[in-house]
Amino acid sequence: MTEPCLEIHLGKIHYNARALVLALADRGISTTGVTKATLGLSEIANVLLRAGVKALGDSRIENIERLRRAHLPGPMVLIRSPMVSQVERVVASADASFNTELTVIHELSKAARAAGTTHGVILMVELGDLREGIMPIDLQAFVREILGSPGILLVGIGANLACQSGVAPDASKMGELSTLADSITESFGVDLPIVSGGNSANLSWALSSAEHGRINDLRLGESILLGRETLHREVIEGLYTDAISLVGEVIESKIKPTLPWGEIAETAYGEPLPVTDRGSKVRMILALGRQDTDPNGLGSPPGIEVCGATSDHLIVESSLCEGIEVGAMIAFRLDYSALSRAMASPFASKRFIREECRGPQASPQREPTMSWVLPPSKERQT
Ligand SMILES: *Cc1c(COP(=O)(O)O)cnc(C)c1O
Repeated sequence: MTEPCLEIHLGKIHYNARALVLALADRGISTTGVTKATLGLSEIANVLLRAGVKALGDSRIENIERLRRAHLPGPMVLIRSPMVSQVERVVASADASFNTELTVIHELSKAARAAGTTHGVILMVELGDLREGIMPIDLQAFVREILGSPGILLVGIGANLACQSGVAPDASKMGELSTLADSITESFGVDLPIVSGGNSANLSWALSSAEHGRINDLRLGESILLGRETLHREVIEGLYTDAISLVGEVIESKIKPTLPWGEIAETAYGEPLPVTDRGSKVRMILALGRQDTDPNGLGSPPGIEVCGATSDHLIVESSLCEGIEVGAMIAFRLDYSALSRAMASPFASKRFIREECRGPQASPQREPTMSWVLPPSKERQT
């Protein structure tokens, strides 16, 4: 196995997904498993389907095509408005897509007719977060237009909050979406099978509110993969937060002064470095850099602190008395940004751990301790 390496505990991801699927099902809400942070990795998508997600959602058609090539069953939804230049690929691989533009829907209609298929459309409504969405006042006109489009089937409406502007998906926003669904049903006599309330940021509303109105689906990525809700990045009780980690290899380990010397100009990435003299410290370099991950999103084990990164070097300081040898591996926890970049790095390999997991209570989460620092690989049995 080559480093950097993403260690992926499929059992923990299954446990997280199953727990969320069941909690939402209790409230009459289905789960769409979002695979975009994993680049449509079929091993993970498979686990999500086994855990009971109703559909797979991804923002990129390339990822959905990858899932199709892996022969994954289950409906697949493109959760970003399709590019006009990709409509043929979209109708060929995705059962449905999220839409906000009539131009795109007309092109999807043409492509679906040409391919002899029907493509599902979910209209995204702008509820104030100012990312994607049709302004609520324009929604009825959109629906009227779509109902007359051959090859297109209106399957639902949806909203996405807490993304661009961090607007919380609370009872009032969800009530607004429900009312819009009701008004479409009333005006056009169409049943909207999917009313998709939002993403992992909707969990606190969904799990605490008694009333869910018409909302019957949520799209979950980060909460399943990292065990956190996304409004305040709180750990979701009972879920694993260490299902995926990134392991890097130490390529230099020396005691060095903490103060650089010479005339100071820009750094490789232009950011000024805070410089304080903290004497000499154990300073290590890992073969892992900005091309592989987001260094600001790495959680290091105690005693180790990330102090900088260039494209291919991660510089860490150790407060441990002993230096860690060259060749040792250090495992980091990841936030969503670090995770999605590591998944996209062609340099990061993947190691799947398939052991079944019964919840963090049954098998306590590894606190990031020194056991995260493995001995040099020659002494390891892998
Ligand atoms: C990424 C995305 C999601 C999933 O968001 P998480 O915070 O990972 O749960 C849901 N819906 C849309 C439209 C997205 O782009």
